[in-house]
Amino acid sequence: MLNQTEQNTHFICDLHCHSTASDGLLSPTEIVERAVQNKVQLLALTDHDTTQGIAEAKKAAQQHAIRLLTGVEISALWDNKTLHIVGLNFDENHPAMTALLNQQTEIRQQRAVQIGEKLTKIGGGDAYQGAKSFTTGEVTRAHYARYLVEIGKVPNEQYAFKHYLVQGKVGYVKANWCDIRTAIAVIQQAGGVAVLAHPLRYQLSKNQIKRMIESFKLLGGDGLEVASCGQTIEQRRHLCRLAMQHNLIASVGSDFHFPCGWRELGKSLYIPQEYQDILPTIW
Ligand code: AMP
Ligand code: MN
Ligand code: MN
Ligand code: MN
Repeated sequence: MLNQTEQNTHFICDLHCHSTASDGLLSPTEIVERAVQNKVQLLALTDHDTTQGIAEAKKAAQQHAIRLLTGVEISALWDNKTLHIVGLNFDENHPAMTALLNQQTEIRQQRAVQIGEKLTKIGGGDAYQGAKSFTTGEVTRAHYARYLVEIGKVPNEQYAFKHYLVQGKVGYVKANWCDIRTAIAVIQQAGGVAVLAHPLRYQLSKNQIKRMIESFKLLGGDGLEVASCGQTIEQRRHLCRLAMQHNLIASVGSDFHFPCGWRELGKSLYIPQEYQDILPTIW
């Protein structure tokens, strides 16, 4: 861990977080304000499959000494699994990007209705409307989890995921997201960089993680998210090594969704000292 002095002089950057445009609980303006409070100097708002929050975030960022990058977190398929590809610093009005995100939104919308029908059948009431009432943006499984808590079906959101919303459970619906090749290509066509988000959070074996990163690189991917909240120092070093081995740039992102004890905008996202000079970074 860095000592206090090093932490204070560290350039604070957070390139992965969510607003009410998807499953975050703060508006884009509130996200920017919170990032400013936390002394973040470079921020990217990366909502799930949408850039709808970007315009508001940009406006808020202009009022403060913070640089905001356009961002998105694209749900994409690899080897029959859903991965998350973060796109950074692209033109959100590029036609290839708007076409892809419109298609993803359509897929998300259809899946949300189907999840709703499944939960209604098991006594979940009007689950679709319930989940939808939690957002003005994209409907995600996180909104279903909040709804299931609200109606008292489950004690907490973790429980909702584990018992209802993940593969093999009654409320799971497979989505036909774009493949990772498309996500990478479209981000780059729009002038951005493509980052493989939270590589350790896909419940993959060590070998599968290696294969996933190799595929991502082979398909032209640019960067690996090496620092996120709640990691051990060993995990972070491991990801730095993987990034270096595969000639990928390092990105950092809290994946902040809402204020809670352990996941915070711009907090604990440094790259270990021994990799700072040798690992190319995105900023
Ligand atoms: P979706 O993109 O609609 O499939 O929703 C995925 C989102 O749900 C993720 O970005 C997380 O924010 C949230 N999520 C996924 N798994 C869990 C979990 N086990 N507990 C809490 N939130 C989760
Ligand atoms: Mn999320
Ligand atoms: Mn994600
Ligand atoms: Mn995320």
